[in-house]
Amino acid sequence: MKKHVNIAIFIPHLGCPFSCIYCNQKTIAAQEHVPDADEVQAIIEQCLPTIPAGVVPELAFFGGNFTTIDFSRQKAYLEAVRPYLDRGLVQGIRISTRPDGISAAILTYLQDYGVETIELGVQSLNDEVLRASARGYSAADVFKSARLIQDYGFQLGLQFMVGLPGDDREKDLFTTAEAIRLQPQMVRIYPTLVLRDTVLEQMWRQGRYTALTLEEALEICTEMVLAFEAHGIPVIRLGLHPGEELRQEGAILAGPFHPAFGERVEQRIFLEQASMAIKQVLSGHPHVRVLDLYAEERDLSKLIGYKRQNLLQLQQDFALSQLNVKTIIDQQKNWVAAAPAGVMPERRLERETFYKLRKVL
Ligand code: SF4
Repeated sequence: MKKHVNIAIFIPHLGCPFSCIYCNQKTIAAQEHVPDADEVQAIIEQCLPTIPAGVVPELAFFGGNFTTIDFSRQKAYLEAVRPYLDRGLVQGIRISTRPDGISAAILTYLQDYGVETIELGVQSLNDEVLRASARGYSAADVFKSARLIQDYGFQLGLQFMVGLPGDDREKDLFTTAEAIRLQPQMVRIYPTLVLRDTVLEQMWRQGRYTALTLEEALEICTEMVLAFEAHGIPVIRLGLHPGEELRQEGAILAGPFHPAFGERVEQRIFLEQASMAIKQVLSGHPHVRVLDLYAEERDLSKLIGYKRQNLLQLQQDFALSQLNVKTIIDQQKNWVAAAPAGVMPERRLERETFYKLRKVL
């Protein structure tokens, strides 16, 4: 697969007129540095020599809602990138914005400036959850924008949050099923965190909001990842990146924060996949109590799990006296194989087969 590299430019929230209950932009905006067009070019110049040979990077404007910031500033940013696009040093631009920050006119000018990917901060496709979070648009608005983005030929990314007020597992799975209908090219999922100086902080202090536990967030995100990936939609980010601001003491007051949240979800998927592979082996060898478990070398930590929890759990679930882990170097990842100790496994359980055998959305 072709290597994908981003040159990321962080665009602060720049006077966002909305007041989503979980967002602390009003208090952090003053501390945020707003890059100008010259700085955008300086960042590109600094990054280009670090890009591996043969890889053309994409320019990604991350952070705020790109299409709702002042139009002259949007234009200045896009014009700053244009010379690099023209010379083939940068391949396409990626922006993120709100679903109601999209219109036919906006898409036309974004296309003229070489934007290829638009990520929408959707958060939920349940109207009750969107209302409770004061997002200011409905699920129908999301569908309208997403379809328009696709009609114009852009790549579509969707970002979701789990654990918002009024949200639950059923609504998250509904959102997932609805999102799959939209067939985005990629998805990001973020568990809700209670940040300092937000409306959510007040609700949490007054006992009107209870954050998800880490275990609950891992469970629901695993289910969502399995559903998206079974439908060929990659989940490119799970959990917030712990940036400077979040690492400050007291910035996160509650919620399922984990610095390696995505890895923990992957470990749960490997646990289930290994469990299925073992079940298959034991159905043919019911009295065997010592097994070998195989995976690709790069998947070893995911197979073993956090503090070896996966292995302990499997040993306990199948009453095994010993479970040996063996790795193989292979191009293909995400498979698991099991066999009685010392016997070569008859087959690998690939991720695609696992999706088919396991009931996912
Ligand atoms: S989360 Fe809501 S309030 Fe915060 S920047 Fe985005 S749109 Fe504005």
